[in-house]
Amino acid sequence: MQEQQSLQVYKFGGASVKDAAAIRNLAGIVREHAVHSQLLIVVSAMGKTTNALEEIFQLAFTGQDFAPPLATLHRFHRAVAQELFEDKPAENEKLAELLAQLEQHLTELQQNPAPADSYDQHYDQIISFGELLATCIVARALGAQWLDCRPLLRTDHTWREGRIDWPTTEWNVREQLPDMLQRGPVVTQGFLGGTAAGQTTTLGREGSDYTAAIFAYCLQAEAVTIWKDVAGLLNADPKFFADTVRFPAISYQETIEMAYYGASVIHPKTIKPLAVRQIPLFVKSFLAPTAEGTRIGEGRHEQLSPAFIRKDGQCLISFESKDLTFISEENLEVIFGALAQVRLKINMMQNSAISFSVCTDYSAYRLEKLLGLLREQFTIHYNTGLELYTIKNYDPASIGRLTAGRELLLEQRTRQTFQFACRGREVSGLL
Ligand code: ASP
Ligand code: MG
Repeated sequence: MQEQQSLQVYKFGGASVKDAAAIRNLAGIVREHAVHSQLLIVVSAMGKTTNALEEIFQLAFTGQDFAPPLATLHRFHRAVAQELFEDKPAENEKLAELLAQLEQHLTELQQNPAPADSYDQHYDQIISFGELLATCIVARALGAQWLDCRPLLRTDHTWREGRIDWPTTEWNVREQLPDMLQRGPVVTQGFLGGTAAGQTTTLGREGSDYTAAIFAYCLQAEAVTIWKDVAGLLNADPKFFADTVRFPAISYQETIEMAYYGASVIHPKTIKPLAVRQIPLFVKSFLAPTAEGTRIGEGRHEQLSPAFIRKDGQCLISFESKDLTFISEENLEVIFGALAQVRLKINMMQNSAISFSVCTDYSAYRLEKLLGLLREQFTIHYNTGLELYTIKNYDPASIGRLTAGRELLLEQRTRQTFQFACRGREVSGLL
């Protein structure tokens, strides 16, 4: 009798597919680690492709010339394919078709100005090509099956942040994947979904981790592994902080909280579906695939070392009622309603007698809309260009380390968490 094979979901982000050498490295990991498992491989756009597509989309949407950056993107993908497939044609039929579709979409957009409020919808139709192109190349490099995930991962119409229709998605995935996985590894796109009407949606920037979790949940996979360019889940981003430490094992709960506060290592929505089905998540380095990494799963902790999370591009907005009355629940209801309507997310908030302050991610467009909604009722002050720091499991030394020499514009402390907003400054060395 044939042994029942375990099913693993691997997720490879942009850095792990950034060029031909990286894709060869990925292929090595898949070959060595997947001999005994069925394997679903979720892949993001290559390198900085998503950012490049955002720029190209912006040009097309505003009727400008997008040809030069599109040509660069095209050349980049073709060069990687050329290097990988050597004597075979760089563009197989699929790649050529995708590149042609992308150009056609952009040309239509440039020539027929679309209404401003359809921006997010068009964004998803264009930005999704990063993942489509990357998976096309990776699947070919692995000799694996290519799966278009969009007809399976059903979302609503919340463009750029599609909300998963779980029952439909689970049904679709179970209908299609097991047979494919029996035949061999499957490569599919992170970050994408589709509406019932067949339009493409995206799941939020850096959403490929979430995709891996969605598939794992639907297939009741044995484990998910996110392959990154860091050694595992660290207590801080080594780009900004010195002396980082790796957590060898950490609970779902702690990880969700860190992601919520902005730790960029895992997309915040990833953990819940895994926790519901008790599927462990491994974070490992694609540069050192045999090293231990981090295991995220069920469990409780003694004291964990402090985790430092930095979010830039913040905006502090303060609302005062015009007649100097106290901020009431009725006022708060209006303010929260407006924030939700313009989709500004609150990262920290505080109430005082006559004013209410929130720290949010800055977006000139959303802030302008918010001011339009609330200006009549409130006097509003705001500061942009701020940073928000969160220390989870803080101790006095960790607070001293981060706050030294800074003016704190807003601060807050709970039993486990210390947060403050301050002016951004030039980074001079690591914190
Ligand atoms: N390529 C998308 C992004 O850069 C999704 C991802 O990387 O997870 O946001
Ligand atoms: Mg990416």
